[in-house]
Amino acid sequence: MSRTLSIGIAGAGIGGLAAGAFLARQGHRVTVFDQFEAAGPVGSGLMLQETGLVILAQLGLRERAQALGAPIARLWGVSAETGRAVLDVRYGALRDGLCGIGIQRASVFALLHEAAVASGARIFTGARITAANASSGTFADAARGAHGPFDLVIDALGVRSPLSSAPVKKLPYGALWATLPWPDAGPFDSTALEQRYEAARKMAGVMPSGRAHAGAAQSLTYFWSIRGDAHAEFRAAPLVHWKDAARALWPETAMLVDQITDHEQLTFARYRHRTHWPAAEGRLIHLGDSWHAASPQLGQGANMALLDACALARAVQVGGEATDIAAMYVRQRASHVRLYQLMTSAFTPVYQSDSRLLPWLRDRLVAPISKLWPAPPILAALVSGALGSPLKKLGLSADR
Ligand SMILES: Cc1cc2nc3c(=O)[nH]c(=O)nc-3n(C[C@H](O)[C@H](O)[C@H](O)COP(=O)(O)OP(=O)(O)OC[C@H]3O[C@@H](n4cnc5c(N)ncnc54)[C@H](O)[C@@H]3O)c2cc1C
Repeated sequence: MSRTLSIGIAGAGIGGLAAGAFLARQGHRVTVFDQFEAAGPVGSGLMLQETGLVILAQLGLRERAQALGAPIARLWGVSAETGRAVLDVRYGALRDGLCGIGIQRASVFALLHEAAVASGARIFTGARITAANASSGTFADAARGAHGPFDLVIDALGVRSPLSSAPVKKLPYGALWATLPWPDAGPFDSTALEQRYEAARKMAGVMPSGRAHAGAAQSLTYFWSIRGDAHAEFRAAPLVHWKDAARALWPETAMLVDQITDHEQLTFARYRHRTHWPAAEGRLIHLGDSWHAASPQLGQGANMALLDACALARAVQVGGEATDIAAMYVRQRASHVRLYQLMTSAFTPVYQSDSRLLPWLRDRLVAPISKLWPAPPILAALVSGALGSPLKKLGLSADR
């Protein structure tokens, strides 16, 4: 690196905080802007894959993330209609000991926030960013006017970024999410993300999601697939209607469903798909969901944001003008982004759609084939984020 840069990052989410930590460590002057008034946890659980864990290792956070999270060795989905397993991905089919972790979003946020601050990044809260100027390197803030100029302005504002002009496709389905205590004597596998389906119209899932802090109880994340246009109806109807449907699909989850006594306990997330090309213009670089938002079907979004953050830091370290940095950043990430955006849009309707054909093919054709070699290691590579070798492009390896 030839000089110290001033870098503005809009968005203190997973990608923005990771980028802030990497870049501040390199000695750059980093300011991260977010609309939140005080740093705080948002949302439910998520899965970190090997790709994301390797990037966390670069920040010295892997062990702490693993201690807070719950190891997930298997993705296991069963058709409620036939009782047959129609999804069975074992991470170990790719490499002995490989697994992802289920972790509370708040835990990931806390680790990255601490790392960014400790590295010297300044976190500027209460700043709602409305626009960016890619030529002058400034952000417009709804209340405070302009921030900058910066040598680089990073858009890490997530799926609804106002700095991304690419059209967002609202997917027909989203999900209701809740974090609940892990039932010790329950029927769930503590090392698997389990799902139950009725065609692709209904889906419920249980994911071990670790604990909020050392000493706290183990948790799980429960999710229920729902059409976006059915959410208002769900809110207006007595909760018992949903509870009956949830128990009917997966009777063993009654012990979880019984803990939900208010609609408010179920957070609704509508899924969106968008890929912003070009990923960079002038001094403005898009990172994470503002570049490539997708449904969480393959559990990749947070991991992709972490990969982006690391790629950006590598490009900044090599140096040059903003356009050189952007070009290297995109070179390292573009093929992986293209591949996973494509795979996620192909897989999502197989599990969440009104199609009759896709789940029929899933259950009768794809499920049996997926058990035959070489499908098991390919599927394990797909869910662990390894297809397209994104770590190799960053000079990293999964075998730390
Ligand atoms: C229900 C659900 C489940 C998911 N499960 C998984 C999973 O299992 N595994 C996985 O890898 N990914 C998962 N994802 C995706 C993952 O959460 C995202 O891909 C990831 O958070 C993207 O990181 P980001 O930094 O781009 O954006 P975010 O983490 O969304 O951060 C964006 C930040 O920008 C701030 N912001 C937004 N607008 C403004 C504004 N105008 N001004 C100032 N600040 C603003 C927000 O407050 C936030 O802090 C899931 C997503 C959802 C919705």
